[in-house]
Amino acid sequence: HVSTKPPPEPSPLRKAKFFQANMRILVTGGAGFIGSHLVDKLMENEKNEVIVADNYFTGSKDNLKKWIGHPRFELIRHDVTEPLLIEVDQIYHLACPASPIFYKYNPVKTIKTNVIGTLNMLGLAKRTGARILLTSTSEVYGDPLVHPQDETYWGNVNPIGVRSCYDEGKRVAETLMFDYHRQHGIEIRIARIFNTYGPRMNIDDGRVVSNFIAQAIRDEPLTVQLPGTQTRSFCYVSDMVNGLMRLMDGENTGPINIGNPGEFTMLELAENVKELINPEVKIITVENTPDDPRQRKPDITKAKELLGWEPKVKLRDGLPLMEEDFRERLGISRKK
Ligand code: NAD
Ligand code: UDP
Ligand code: UDP
Repeated sequence: HVSTKPPPEPSPLRKAKFFQANMRILVTGGAGFIGSHLVDKLMENEKNEVIVADNYFTGSKDNLKKWIGHPRFELIRHDVTEPLLIEVDQIYHLACPASPIFYKYNPVKTIKTNVIGTLNMLGLAKRTGARILLTSTSEVYGDPLVHPQDETYWGNVNPIGVRSCYDEGKRVAETLMFDYHRQHGIEIRIARIFNTYGPRMNIDDGRVVSNFIAQAIRDEPLTVQLPGTQTRSFCYVSDMVNGLMRLMDGENTGPINIGNPGEFTMLELAENVKELINPEVKIITVENTPDDPRQRKPDITKAKELLGWEPKVKLRDGLPLMEEDFRERLGISRKK
């Protein structure tokens, strides 16, 4: 005798356990460049439910279009400077414009995002018991007098300059994270992200890699800001996302530098872009902006030891991957 009855419904307790096993992850700023790549990676795990909160200041729904409508995905138009009442288990707090032209556009909004936004996400973490990861920045080291920068360095930051809304904002955000950790026992993680590049960067967001690639594709001169000898170290976005997830899921609060220690002058970067993307293009020098850090390179000893993480993608391998995405969006194919 074979029963045709459907299997019994799981008991409410079993159901609760089933939902417990799922991880509800909030990604603030998830419609942005790094955030959307992080969402892609988090969505690969069927146990994750991902909620993005973003005000679309520099991000866009386009970056998340493949997830809109997915049962484990939710997108909320929300500004983190306002309180957010939802239930979550983990918070990746990325919301904040990252490109100098955008964060300087409305500096008061930028510092509110860093201070009030982080305070709200910490309040949310406190109420829900969620673990929270802040994407801080190498800019907390300012114009560094120590090279390469390790996490013990306190930095050399102008508190009243045009970049201060961003770098001092992130410094306060780090302080808030540690105060909530010490005072309220919140589980915190702090990543100090160094310059990151890859597909989906805003084409005209003014950052150096996106500028040079867009210029090379459009046959416009590459604009090296003076003196051109200033250095940066560029991390490909997939490496960055892996580092952030290792940090979140590991046992260390940080702050931990996540970045690629390969260091280049802006002139060298321009030469590389020229050679790989458009050998005909000119390289010119232009005025710089105030308080531009002269050198930057992460010491990633801590990330290697504590997270078992190090970047894999070299600049010369990452640039062509970004070129492909930029060509598609600009509608300009490679000359034969
Ligand atoms: P991005 O500008 O592409 O993404 C930021 C996202 O935050 C955008 O989607 C934007 O709309 C959203 N946002 C901004 N203000 C908000 C607010 N008040 N409320 C809700 N959403 C808001 O930048 P990104 O490069 O993806 O940077 C992500 C994070 O990583 C930022 O916190 C940034 O400070 C940090 N970071 C990035 C780099 C880098 O090189 N890309 C370096 C250091 C640190
Ligand atoms: N908050 C939030 N979501 C929550 C809980 C708190 O956005 O689920 C905000 C809250 O509005 C407050 C901030 O987080 O502005 C800090 O919260 P906390 O509980 O630490 O401080 P308090 O509300 O006691 O000032
Ligand atoms: N830069 C440049 N040409 C550009 C844009 C930027 O030479 O078109 C330089 C800028 O002066 C700085 C470096 O590139 O030294 C990195 O600038 P970016 O705005 O990308 O990031 P930052 O590290 O300053 O936040």
